[in-house]
Formats: sequence, structure tokens, C-alpha cells
Amino acid sequence: PLPVLAVVGRPNVGKSTLVNRIIGRREAVVEDKPGVTRDRVTYEAEWAGRRFKVVDTGGWEQDVLGIDASVAAQAEYAIEAADAVVFVVDSKVGATDTDEAVVRLLRKAGKPVVLAANKVDGQSGEADAAYLWSLGLGEPHPVSALHGRGTGDMLDAVLEVL
Ligand code: GDP
Ligand code: MG
Repeated sequence: PLPVLAVVGRPNVGKSTLVNRIIGRREAVVEDKPGVTRDRVTYEAEWAGRRFKVVDTGGWEQDVLGIDASVAAQAEYAIEAADAVVFVVDSKVGATDTDEAVVRLLRKAGKPVVLAANKVDGQSGEADAAYLWSLGLGEPHPVSALHGRGTGDMLDAVLEVL
């Protein structure tokens, strides 16, 4: 069976855009409205000659559970089923309490994590990414899922742990 990479993070940080980038085609997984992608969607991907599965998570909204609980519940399922995780944070927003909650889940699960500091569309965004060292997950990989900046280097890091 192919190794499984889960992409987790808060709504609207760019998970689906990053998954599109990873699978190398533009499918209708991105919606401007947060929370449109339901549940988890699995795709096949290939990087540097290695095939793997990538799981886009989403579908949680600010429902009765509240945003923290729903993000945590979704992330927990996805992390459990994964061999490695890309944790996506919006570098323009910085680390929120919800992000910190996901970090605690990641630590508990003990799966390898690659931290993607998304929305670094240009050189000037690099400093925002550096703030995310504070999450304690190691090097934040600055990426622009939208434009493809840095995503190759991030995938190289993923293959080292997948
Ligand atoms: P998800 O809810 O985490 O799956 O986020 P989406 O992939 O649906 O993206 C949410 C919004 O962020 C969309 O409007 C995207 O176009 C935008 N977005 C995603 N990646 C980037 C990026 O690298 N740079 C910028 N500027 N916007 C991005
Ligand atoms: Mg999505």
C-alpha cells in the first residue's frame, strides 16, 4: 500500500490549494468559502519518482462544537490514519489558539510532521514564516500553495519522513 500523507490545519489556511499543488492538477477541491470541502478526500500523488496518497481534510465549520473542537476532531482522525502529516499554518495570520491545539494533537500522535507556512507569496513573507518556529515543530517551510513557491522544497522534506 502507498504511504499516506495527511494535510491538516485550520479552515482557510490553504490546505486544498496545497493539495492541488501536490497532486499537480487543478481539480475542484478549492472553494473560496471556508468549510466547503466535506470530510476527507484522498488523492494519489507522485514526487521525485515516489508515489503516495495525500488526504485533504476540511469540512469542519464553526458548528455546534465550536471551531476548536471540530478542527481537532477532524485532524485527530486524519493524523491517526496517516504515516506523516503536513501541518498548514497561514503565515499572514500567525499561530492561533486553534493551531496550538492541533500542535498538541500532533505531539500526542507522534507522527512525523512537516510544518508548511503558507501564503508566503514573495520574499517579504519569509519573516512571517520564521515566527512559526515558535510552534516547536522545527523548521517552518515557507510556501505559496497558490503560486507554487517553495512547495518543491517542502515536498523534499516530506519524502524524508514519509
Ligand atoms: P482550506 O480551507 O485550508 O482548504 O483553504 P483553501 O485552499 O480553500 O484556500 C483558502 C483561501 O486562501 C482561498 O481563497 C485561496 O485562494 C487562498 N490561498 C491559498 N493558498 C494561498 C497562498 O499561497 N497565497 C495566497 N495569497 N492565498 C492563498
Ligand atoms: Mg479545503
